[in-house]
Amino acid sequence: MNVYYLGIIFIILGYSFRWSWWLKNKKGLKVLVYHKVGYPPKFSKLKELWVTPENFEKHISYLLRNNYKIIGFSDLKKYYDESKPVDDVVLITFDDGYENNYLYAYPILKKYGVKGNIFVVYNTIGKTNIWHNPKTEPWLNMATKEQLIEMYKSGIIEFGSHTMNHPKLENIPFEDAVWEIIESKKQLENLFQNEIISFAYPYGNGAYNEKIRKIVKENYIFDFSFKQGITPWPWDRENFPIDRLFIKYREGIFDLKLHLSKGRNKIL
Ligand SMILES: [Zn+2]
Repeated sequence: MNVYYLGIIFIILGYSFRWSWWLKNKKGLKVLVYHKVGYPPKFSKLKELWVTPENFEKHISYLLRNNYKIIGFSDLKKYYDESKPVDDVVLITFDDGYENNYLYAYPILKKYGVKGNIFVVYNTIGKTNIWHNPKTEPWLNMATKEQLIEMYKSGIIEFGSHTMNHPKLENIPFEDAVWEIIESKKQLENLFQNEIISFAYPYGNGAYNEKIRKIVKENYIFDFSFKQGITPWPWDRENFPIDRLFIKYREGIFDLKLHLSKGRNKIL
């Protein structure tokens, strides 16, 4: 083999190290995080937050083919309370509560008979994602109360809180952050007539702030960050929120597999 070919092989090999295939497998809780299901509008600057219905269905069928149990928050509570291992468990979560979750993800989850979990921004129910600047990200419909209740009653979807207004909790007065955390739980419990045990920090902000996390821990069992990773199990609830695996728009099954086994698909 001449030097030229050897050089090319080294370049390809070097490039492939950007992906995490060479890292050690990680054990623990795997929580996938999605936002919008459907087709990103042309001018979206946040394309990565979308997954097409076709790819979402591929993800679900991959998980089932590989014998993962796809569970809801209430099931996770049993695993947590009974210290059961979670290595074959996956939680599918959606942040914000878009109507497209109801239109596209819910029918797919129903088709396969598996659960999903949605973190709702209470004050935007039946409205739009007004926390985004419409100049950079077109506004979308959020699910209505009727759609949320229908999904809840089906037993397919469980719900958690994503605050009242989607603020960065560290950037608002502490009393307001406390209100965002507690009031959203109260309102959602009133809507579903059931206990809300899970919370996700908007933008992941506040997940590592001791004062804010203390309030969350006092009111919820599970809190979810936006940090990439697999959460070691049994979960060290006292010290860490639950990390998640963020699958981007263009990522395929190879990436999903790396996320699930290594805690990330790429290292660069
Ligand atoms: Zn959010």
